[in-house]
Amino acid sequence: MRRSLSQRILRWLARRGAGRIQVRAVALVAVSLVVFVVVMVAADLMSSRRIIERELEQQTEATARMIAVIAGDKLSTGVLTDMARTTISLARIGNLARIEIHDRRSGATLEADAGRFLLRSQFNNPLARAALANGQVMFHNAQDHVEVAVPIFVQDAIRGVVLVASTDDFQIQKRREAILRSLVIAIVFLAVLLPLMSVLVGRLLAPVRELTEATRRIARGELDVPVRARSGGELGELAASFHRMTKRLKASIEVERRLAYTDPVTGLANRERLRRGVENAAEAARIDGRPRALFFIDLDGFKRVNDVFGHETGDKLLIAVARRFESVLREQGWVLIDPMTAPLLQDRIDRPALLGRHGGDEFVIGVRFRSDARAEAAALAARLLSTLREPFDIDGQIIVVGASVGIACMPDDGGDASTLMRHADLAMYQAKEAGRNRYCFFSSEMSQKLIDRLVLEMELRRAIGNDEIDAFYMPQVDLKTGRICAFEALARWRHPTKGLLQPAQFIPLAEESGMIADIDKAVMRKALRQASDWAWKGTTIPVAVNMSPEDFARPEMITFVARLLKEYGVPGNLLEIEVTESAAMRDPDRAARVMSELKRSGVRFAIDDFGTGYSNLGQLLKLPVDVFKIDRSFVKSIEGNGEAHHLVRTIVGLADQMGLSTVAEGIETEEQAELLTRLGVHIGQGYFYGQPVPASEAEKLIERHYPHAAGGSWMV
Ligand code: C2E
Ligand code: MG
Ligand code: MG
Repeated sequence: MRRSLSQRILRWLARRGAGRIQVRAVALVAVSLVVFVVVMVAADLMSSRRIIERELEQQTEATARMIAVIAGDKLSTGVLTDMARTTISLARIGNLARIEIHDRRSGATLEADAGRFLLRSQFNNPLARAALANGQVMFHNAQDHVEVAVPIFVQDAIRGVVLVASTDDFQIQKRREAILRSLVIAIVFLAVLLPLMSVLVGRLLAPVRELTEATRRIARGELDVPVRARSGGELGELAASFHRMTKRLKASIEVERRLAYTDPVTGLANRERLRRGVENAAEAARIDGRPRALFFIDLDGFKRVNDVFGHETGDKLLIAVARRFESVLREQGWVLIDPMTAPLLQDRIDRPALLGRHGGDEFVIGVRFRSDARAEAAALAARLLSTLREPFDIDGQIIVVGASVGIACMPDDGGDASTLMRHADLAMYQAKEAGRNRYCFFSSEMSQKLIDRLVLEMELRRAIGNDEIDAFYMPQVDLKTGRICAFEALARWRHPTKGLLQPAQFIPLAEESGMIADIDKAVMRKALRQASDWAWKGTTIPVAVNMSPEDFARPEMITFVARLLKEYGVPGNLLEIEVTESAAMRDPDRAARVMSELKRSGVRFAIDDFGTGYSNLGQLLKLPVDVFKIDRSFVKSIEGNGEAHHLVRTIVGLADQMGLSTVAEGIETEEQAELLTRLGVHIGQGYFYGQPVPASEAEKLIERHYPHAAGGSWMV
């Protein structure tokens, strides 16, 4: 209970700013002072008691001597009883307890007090006897009285003795006074010393309190805590070490914070630091109304660079891109500022800019303009794009990347960081959709586009479950015989309200939102069921299906394909899986394993859009591939374009040498077909032979090509 009370007092004092050590030290000093004062008072009382006793003795002696003189005088001329009246008076006046006068000659003793007297013949007081015997003044100090015996001399001979006994009654007042005085001294002493000592102790321990308070503030996360080393000695040393410690702590936290806000690859501001910078800029734009713009830059084709050359090269490319952006900004007169300190510098610098990596291949630039935001932003965006046009030389590899740039202007396109970023991002998407390698300003209609995209994404999720994804079939024709030799199954979405949607309208969305695997599986299931159906009807015709880079080389794909082949009873060699170069090269070792595994059941592999990737050909050719599908772009320009002509010839020569077949995509004219046949391409595919059609129409094409096969038997 007492402890909790003391704790409560300590807490109460602490709330008023007193530290525990201070309070305890002051309490200790106070207790010591009190003990000291008590001892002092006791000593004072004892000594004053001694003084009072001495005083009583002296007074009593003086009285006794005076009575002895009077008695000697009286006894020399008369008898003892003559003294009776005088003795009573003396006892009364002197406030004496008792007076005894002994006459040696007569042997009588007169004893008197303040009221009466009596005459005795005995004389047996030991003190009086001793005085009588040795002729000296004798003292006796009893508990409550003092006795003094003084010999009576008459003509130099001892005639008798006077004994006076005084009580200390009248000394009580004196004692009280002494006690009171001691108390007053004690109180004054304490009243002056206690506060003085408290202040001194408080001052002495102030650095400890300061240090304690400083540690508390540091624990709360405040690091700007000044600690003054006011005193020397240990406390000063402690304060100095503490100061050094906080400085070091601050420095290491600073480093940590810098790392937490720095992109480890490029050393630029990272996403969080950018967000703060944009927030500052948006705030400043709201206040000063000066034109500013935010650029959201996404590299075009970076993913492919990563896939083909590996992540290390990808990282080096990002660093090189960052350095180019920095030098463009500097050369145009902008000063790069740290987004964390942006608000302080914004006003002092004429052309502040911030640059950071938002993540992946996305960069963000924020700048303040002098006058016309749109015109100046357009000029800067054009300069940023042109700086990327120059190829990068990364460890001897020549790499070309473009970028799509979205621009949001402040304050028109948003008043806060997240809105501005979103809008610049949206504008960047718009630039991508418009064909990449360009810039686009944000407009409010883009928000609607985003909403439409979100709706489409939700509809696509539902579509997969509702079996709205269908496969259309595009014939592939043997260029020598002119006969259909296979079909490529291409995804179509039978949208309940928008009608038939083409892959371009949903495949990229499916790839971005992680639904492509489900679409690929749905198309593959339909295509294999169709192949099985046609086979039962008499035509064994292979089907080619596309597989997205996202799900190619997933181990589960192997089991899925194997299960489907088994389920529909289709031999593996009726299935051809088309993958793009970049999908195959993303992880060549794994791709080789997946391909080899599936090839055991006869499945064939084609490299789709061959010639458009940046593949390391040597590595690509190590894969167990069966077919090169020459990209439509070469076929389109084959007439009159010597380069395309030469390229196709090279691809065919290579394929022939390796025992692979070639498929030319996108044949639209008879001339193209003839030219490609002459160049030795084995198979043609394109609108010239037929567009992608539903299964029922594809079947009619088969019947036209294979009339003999109707009702025929399964053959491989
Ligand atoms: P792809 O695999 O290269 O398919 C060939 C595309 O070229 C098809 O477009 C086809 O209609 C078109 N094409 C073929 N010949 C001609 C021609 O002579 N002229 C013109 N103008 N176009 C021609 P489609 O069906 O729109 O498919 C586009 C792309 O979508 C495909 O290119 C493929 O990459 C992707 N895709 C289609 N279905 C699937 C699928 O089930 N899964 C995956 N992952 N991707 C698919
Ligand atoms: Mg294809
Ligand atoms: Mg293709």
